[in-house]
Amino acid sequence: MLERDGYLEIEEIERIPGFPGREALSRKKVAILECAQEIPCDPCEAACPRGAITVGSRITNLPAIDPERCTGCGTCVARCPGLAIFVIDLTKPDHDVVTMPYEYLPLPEAGQEVACLDRRGAMLGSGRVKRISTAKANDRTAVVTVEVPKGLGMEVRAIRVNGRVLAGELEGVKEPSKEGLLPQGPEDPDDMLICRCEEVTRKEIIEAIREGAVTVDAVKRRTRAGMGLCQGRNCGKTVSRLIAEELGKPVSSVPPASKRPPVRPVKLSVFAAGEDVPDDDK
Ligand code: SF4
Ligand code: SF4
Repeated sequence: MLERDGYLEIEEIERIPGFPGREALSRKKVAILECAQEIPCDPCEAACPRGAITVGSRITNLPAIDPERCTGCGTCVARCPGLAIFVIDLTKPDHDVVTMPYEYLPLPEAGQEVACLDRRGAMLGSGRVKRISTAKANDRTAVVTVEVPKGLGMEVRAIRVNGRVLAGELEGVKEPSKEGLLPQGPEDPDDMLICRCEEVTRKEIIEAIREGAVTVDAVKRRTRAGMGLCQGRNCGKTVSRLIAEELGKPVSSVPPASKRPPVRPVKLSVFAAGEDVPDDDK
């Protein structure tokens, strides 16, 4: 469960508008938008040349996929800053195919065997890289297409390069260890980006806390974590947890960040036109 565990369960995905539906998945290659949080974000909508993705006039709407318009071209995969878009092909008789964003080094090569991981980071089995795109238009996000074992197309959401599955390893991850649940990231956890909008690392936040910034607002003022486009919706809880860990207190004792209007980003065109902001946006 996303709120509790930090990753989406299949049942949650099936309820969001980015899910193309089981029927479409059974007959065609199609994009799936595993985007379940109402954050101000919409590059996927503009990225699709077929008009298959709709966010709509409210930038916080969840994106919806129209499976009939989607050709599975994969253009949208690298455009999602949340790395939430995948293209799935479940129609092959002997394997499934998953196209996913990949932002780590080293990059895999076509034909290379890689370890397939699920949404938790737990090992599922071996896959083979079919194709990798490092197009300039994708900035530095590679798009990797992987052939995965039949039946795992809805499960595999990451790969580990140079991570060939060794005999016995799968049995060892049936009950994944805490370490196994961690997503791939920088070798030094201090370099992990906590605030992706302002690119603030864990180390910078820990240093600010140790220098006396013991509230989310104080960390924000010192480091800019939470001042970016998402206004702390993504990093705020992590900053609270880091403060709680450093102080040895429960997270509930850390005061939440102050909310100041506009509570949600408002397009300049709304002000220019003198439109009323809808009640549920106030
Ligand atoms: S895979 Fe291609 S056609 Fe389908 S939603 Fe993404 S960009 Fe549009
Ligand atoms: S670009 Fe990604 S994170 Fe943003 S709305 Fe689209 S699917 Fe969600």
